[in-house]
Amino acid sequence: MAPTTSEHIHCLIIGSGPAGYTAAIYAARAGLNPVMYQGLQPGGQLTITNDVENFPGYPDGVMGPEMMEDLKKQAERFGTDIRYGIATAVDFEAHPRRITIDEKLELTADTVIIATGASAKWLGLPSEQRLNGSGVSACAVCDGFFYRGKDVAIVGAGDTAAEEATYLANLCSKVYMIVRKGEMKASKIMQKRVLDNPKIEVLWNTITDEILGEHAVEAVRVKNVVEGTTRDLAVEGFFVAIGHEPNSKIFQPYLHHDEQGYLKTIPGTSKTNVDGVFACGDVQDYTYRQAVTAAGTGCMAALDAERYLAALGD
Ligand SMILES: Cc1cc2nc3c(=O)[nH]c(=O)nc-3n(C[C@H](O)[C@H](O)[C@H](O)COP(=O)(O)OP(=O)(O)OC[C@H]3O[C@@H](n4cnc5c(N)ncnc54)[C@H](O)[C@@H]3O)c2cc1C
Repeated sequence: MAPTTSEHIHCLIIGSGPAGYTAAIYAARAGLNPVMYQGLQPGGQLTITNDVENFPGYPDGVMGPEMMEDLKKQAERFGTDIRYGIATAVDFEAHPRRITIDEKLELTADTVIIATGASAKWLGLPSEQRLNGSGVSACAVCDGFFYRGKDVAIVGAGDTAAEEATYLANLCSKVYMIVRKGEMKASKIMQKRVLDNPKIEVLWNTITDEILGEHAVEAVRVKNVVEGTTRDLAVEGFFVAIGHEPNSKIFQPYLHHDEQGYLKTIPGTSKTNVDGVFACGDVQDYTYRQAVTAAGTGCMAALDAERYLAALGD
């Protein structure tokens, strides 16, 4: 469908997670009149989790959705125009930059802040979805603490899975690492760390059949695909570490990115290779992927946008 309406925006923010809202707070207070499109998941990834205990400023922890509502109110307080809508196409060769919302609204923008995050990949089991947030997690650094002294399982065979298994082994009494093949993709050094750790038991050639438990994870049923045998592991936490997908598809034709699609920024800044287009949060962060780092880079993006506009004389 051809875009119908047209509107010019001074500072456009795409995405409403911690990065987008922090960018909005800074941009609004700097008088940039930011307009934010929230995307499919208003509030971002933290809206699907319960307790957030590591975001500074909440000494007793906070529920993820509540924290995102707080950030939204703070952005609105300074005048951010927050709208429903998904960016479905961009033209970053055009001047000013062009952005299409929901395939029908055409915008132009003096500056664009991309804060579209990344989505965890899941196994696709119904029980994984049902128990998400009740023992199932895609973030060991975020949720491992809740399972200290307990037995857990983690699925994955790459560097992130190996790193997260090692992280969990520092907290938990036992970590089962479920590896689909007879080998791992992780680098040799990460594999060695896993294999040398007495708290980690690697289950080779093993797949997850089902996550068991009524209201919380109680066990995981796994199957050894070579031997054809099935067993139940009594665990309270089940971590999925099979990768993330940065939400960057529409930007990739214009912006430098790595082979997984993470947008590249000039080190120490939020600048992309296109003038006036900035990226922050998980969409450009393969390494840390935390709310506080997303918020920090959101601040950087707003400050970089402000300086860019000031240099243009806007
Ligand atoms: C289960 C779970 C628990 C977690 N727990 C913690 C924790 O305890 N502590 C912590 O620090 N971190 C935690 N994290 C990680 C944290 O949620 C992320 O690091 C953080 O949310 C990243 O923020 P972001 O703003 O970059 O992106 P996201 O939160 O991913 O938000 C992305 C936003 O972009 C929008 N969007 C995407 N595509 C488009 C588009 N085309 N157009 C418009 N909008 C779009 C989405 O709707 C969304 O609003 C957890 C993650 C998960 C999955």
